[in-house]
Amino acid sequence: LSDRLAETLANLRTKGKLTASDVDGTVREIRRALLEADVALPVVKDFTAHVRERALGDEVNRALNPAQQVVQIVNDELIRILGGQVRRIEFAKQPPTVIMLAGLQGAGKTTLAGKLAKQLRADRHAPLLVAADLQRPNAVQQLQVVGEQADTHVFAPEPGNGVGDPVRVAKDAVKFARDKQYDVVIIDTAGRLGVDAELMKQASNIRKATNPDEVLFVIDAMIGQDAVATAKAFQEGVDFTGVVLSKLDGDARGGAALSVAQVTGKPIMFASTGEGLDDFEVFHPDRMASRILDMGDILTLIEQAQRAFDEDEARRVAEKLATEAFTLDDFLQQMQQLRKAGNLKKMMGMLPGMGQMKEALDNFDEREIARTEAIIQSMTPAERQNPKLLNGSRRARIARGCGRTVTDVNELVKRFDQAAKMMKTVARGGTPQIPGMGPV
Ligand code: GDP
Ligand code: MG
Repeated sequence: LSDRLAETLANLRTKGKLTASDVDGTVREIRRALLEADVALPVVKDFTAHVRERALGDEVNRALNPAQQVVQIVNDELIRILGGQVRRIEFAKQPPTVIMLAGLQGAGKTTLAGKLAKQLRADRHAPLLVAADLQRPNAVQQLQVVGEQADTHVFAPEPGNGVGDPVRVAKDAVKFARDKQYDVVIIDTAGRLGVDAELMKQASNIRKATNPDEVLFVIDAMIGQDAVATAKAFQEGVDFTGVVLSKLDGDARGGAALSVAQVTGKPIMFASTGEGLDDFEVFHPDRMASRILDMGDILTLIEQAQRAFDEDEARRVAEKLATEAFTLDDFLQQMQQLRKAGNLKKMMGMLPGMGQMKEALDNFDEREIARTEAIIQSMTPAERQNPKLLNGSRRARIARGCGRTVTDVNELVKRFDQAAKMMKTVARGGTPQIPGMGPV
């Protein structure tokens, strides 16, 4: 995602304001990038339409440059769709809290059951694992292995009773938990390879029989474009209260997260990040947004964009100098720009004839700038616009205002005059001096 987006943003970074065509170009690239991250097409369409609307709207933050604005809007929107806040398990007022897991075969339900049990035990709960997947031959045994790892009891049908009924097992388990003072019941259910009417019916029946406080839909982050259809099928067939994204340790960019969250409107609660029982974390929408945007790169871009913004500012000042009167406000602004050492070099590159001045800049006195700033800030706006107003009594007032002497003020005005003269030279294409530093 980030490469292409990086290119687009790089193209934006020298512009001062977002135009409709900038936004359209960027939105087109974001659309392509999201598709590459495996976000489902209808979700991408919705998302980009919203970003476009916001980018063109009035609410744009004028303090940010265009690249930052677009990144901020995209990031905000991603977080919003991903649920905004972290959502944790809601425990029943009357224990036991019943948590049912649903999802396709191989999604990671049984593994998640173990992860939840282990975490709950660490949090001083008394969980009970329930083997309600009686479909696959080894499913019960797999849960028993996981239960052992999580040091958690597993409720399973008695072996040798013929084919068990998962609805019955789940129901008995909740009763067992209540009797034996387990406070959380985690029901592992069967999945199929694909969405299947019988599977949905079974899951739905388990839900009805046990009335869970949470139904967690587990989905493999690598599922890509199928995420939407699968999530919709489970929402219609069983319905759920939250989503768990598994296998986020793979190279999936997390597009499935966006698809599922957008299409179902349900919060993503946990992320599974490996086969081990500790590879499990609470889902953070902002971190996932960063992952989808690959924020590492984006932050670099923002920095680049910020630098470009400063260059723009320097260029703007230079252009103003060529056409308009140079005021003390401009002088102050230049001081402030000069303060950033990086910018100094940028400005030198920008202004003609400054190539040989590097050495002088190395000897540059920071405190000089602070003094200059204090003096100019004691002037009225009118005085800054028109330094000719600065007669003796005004200079005395300014000196008092900033705690300097009249000589200091006179000195500054002299240097300003030199700078103004220099700026005229620049405008005519000659070799200038650096403002505020005296002749070099
Ligand atoms: P179920 O059919 O939904 O119960 O899925 P399982 O829990 O049996 O998991 C299927 C496979 O995926 C197993 O080999 C798990 O070890 C593996 N698995 C589950 N969760 C994760 C995960 O977060 N990351 C990785 N890499 N593998 C996982
Ligand atoms: Mg399983």
